[in-house]
This record gives sequence, C-alpha cells and structure tokens, in this order.
Amino acid sequence: MTKSEEIIQEVKRGNANHYNPLSVVLSRADGVWVWDADGKKYMDMLACYSAVNLGHNNPKIRRAIERQLETGLLQCSNAFFNENQVFDSELADFCGFERVLVMNTGAEAVETFIKLARKWFVVGRGGAEQAAEIIVCENNFHGRTTTIVSFSSDESYRYGFGPHTQGFKIIPYGDLDALERAITSNTAAFLLEPIQGEGGVIIPPRGYLKKARELCHKNGVLFALDEIQTGFARTGKMFAWEHENARPDVLILGKSLGTALPISAVLASKEVMDAVYTPGTHGSTFANGPLPCAVGRAVLDFFRENPDLPDRVRDLGNWFMRKLRTIKSPYIQEVRGKGLFVGVELKPEAGGARRFAESLMNLEPVGILCKETHENVIRFVPPLIVTKEELEWAFENIKMVLETTK
Ligand code: PLP
Repeated sequence: MTKSEEIIQEVKRGNANHYNPLSVVLSRADGVWVWDADGKKYMDMLACYSAVNLGHNNPKIRRAIERQLETGLLQCSNAFFNENQVFDSELADFCGFERVLVMNTGAEAVETFIKLARKWFVVGRGGAEQAAEIIVCENNFHGRTTTIVSFSSDESYRYGFGPHTQGFKIIPYGDLDALERAITSNTAAFLLEPIQGEGGVIIPPRGYLKKARELCHKNGVLFALDEIQTGFARTGKMFAWEHENARPDVLILGKSLGTALPISAVLASKEVMDAVYTPGTHGSTFANGPLPCAVGRAVLDFFRENPDLPDRVRDLGNWFMRKLRTIKSPYIQEVRGKGLFVGVELKPEAGGARRFAESLMNLEPVGILCKETHENVIRFVPPLIVTKEELEWAFENIKMVLETTK
C-alpha cells in the first residue's frame, strides 16, 4: 500500500463520507504545483474552486500569516477591535462600496445577504414582515446551509433536508422575461451568480446582467451578485459584473478573498447596511479576527500591486480556450468560459467527466488535478498566476488524454 492509500483508508475510518474526492492526498504546494504524500507532482487546475487564485505558498500571504503569528494575537472575538480590522474599510474601498460585513464561509455570506434583503424589505421599503421574496435562478449554487439548499434546484442538495425555508422563487437562468414575470411587490431581491460555476460554467446571454439590474431597479428590488467564485480577476475582470457594467447593490465575496483562510463578505450601501444591521443583529466568533484580516489585507495588496492581472487572465484564458477548441475528440460538446474560468462540456456518451479527471490525475510522471462539475463538465480553473508555459504544458497533456481516451 502506498502512503497515500494508507492515509485515505485512515481518513475514511472517521470521515462522514459527504464528499467524493479524487484519490490523491496532498502534502505540499508551491505556485500552481502540488505534491502528494508519495512525492508525485501535479498541476493544480482547480485552485480550491478559485480560492487559491494567488497561487499556493504565495509569499505575500505567508508573510502576513508569519507577521501575525509573531504578535501572538491569533484571535480576540468581535467584543474588541483589532488592528487588522481596518481590512473592512480597505475592502469597501477596493470594491467601491460603502459598507462591508465580514463572515467566514461563502454560505455564511449568502445567509447574511438573505437576512439583509429580507430586513431591508421591511425596514427600508415598508414591506410586511414575513412577506419578502427573493428570486433566484435554476441551477444555482450558493452553498449548503438549510436555507440555501431550500432554494436549490438540485435534488441531491435538497432531498431529505426539509422542511425547506420559504420565501424563494426559482426562475430560469438568463431569462429576462421570467424575471419580469416573477417580480411582485413582495420581491426583496434577485440573487444570482454572474457565471454559474458549480452549475457547469454556464454563461448567461450577453447583456443579461445589465438588463436584469435595470429590471430590479425599476421595481425597487435589490440586485445581488454572488461573486464568491467569479470575483478577484478569475473571469478577466476584477469582478465579473464589470463585463457588462452591471454593478450590484449587494456584492457577495468569498474564496479568493481569504486564499488560505475562510473569509467572506457582503458589501452594500451605507443606507441599506445601516438600516438592517445594528448592534446585536448579526455576528460570528471567528469573523474579522486578526489572522484572517491580516490575510485579507495581503490579498487586497496583491491585487493592488498587480493591476494588469485581470487583463492577463483574459488573454491567457482566451488563448487557452482557443487551444482547447482544437482538440479532436468525439466526446467534446463545447469549450466555454471567461478568463481562466473554463469548462469543457462532454457529450452524454463520454461516460461522465469524472473518468477524464481521473486520467489527468493519473498522468505520469506529473499529473493534472481538476474536478468534474455537473457530471459532464471538466472545469479548468488554475491559479491566476499560472504562466503561459505552464498552461501550454497542461494543454498538451489535456489534449493527449481527451484524444486517446476511448
Ligand atoms: N456561492 C458560490 C457561487 C460558490 O461557488 C460557493 C462554493 O463553491 C459558495 C457560494 C459557498 O461557499 P462556501 O463553500 O465557502 O460556503
């Protein structure tokens, strides 16, 4: 038995079996590369679902963590301020918003948004308590809490977890008529992903975000974008809303914001945030702690110091997708994406994307790590610091696997 196999066996002894990871045990990392417990090297083309946009072992993030360790102050709760909490205002400035509420995980930020939208409906718009509705899209993915899975259209996320939370309307993604029909005087907000990531890298029709925003504004509805996966240059703009100049009223961030630690945030105007959240109405023990805030500040620094990164990601992504489209495989249905948020959709007869992800992982001497999403889509989302040479290497190997797998 290899060391990796032994570890997997030991993990499975206690692990709840709620996920289905590939059979690889990671033990160290640098840049776009990771090594398993037996010393084999892989290119990481999942980047922790976009959380590791800055690459593994990023010196800036390391230094921020080391510096904070030296202070000895690793946690202090929200009962007090900490020096790094200026992160909140720095993040607000970075994103062009007035107010920020920092949480830990993406799902918590979405929950924070749901509370915000509902209460704004009552205190800001004079709506009746318990009447607020939030419109969401089919095929969405916003996290795994009981309320969030209540408005999922994926039965495997919902089944058995009822009673489900009420107050959501599900409409088809990309359909403006459906949005117009769904809006009523009780609509508090419209929540969507600018590109559906877990749903299979689904890009809505051009102009959709901008028009959806207009429809929301015409009706006094909050236009909220979940940029947990698309934010921070992933799609070739700092935020995906910039592709259509569709600035949201509420921006939800996570993943890349924390890079190494869970940090998420909800951003909104002073008017909305101050009306909804007053002392005692929300909180989280770990959120806004000195260590995650130190990391968050370093992440913002990184992006401020690399203003060309989004353009570079756009160009690299376009080049990579052009290359992927030259692959001659009877199994490929479509290559699509924006920036380095890329999906290769396979035809149903391909036998699912999982076996291709496994073949890529099993390449010798160096493998490629990626993951299937929604059965038939292989998602390629490398760290954004990937070089063209590294991507070229990945492409040659992906081409080989896709062209030779029977
Ligand atoms: N929203 C989107 C768009 C996501 O992609 C994810 C995670 O994949 C989440 C929310 C949930 O984030 P977390 O897993 O940190 O709770």
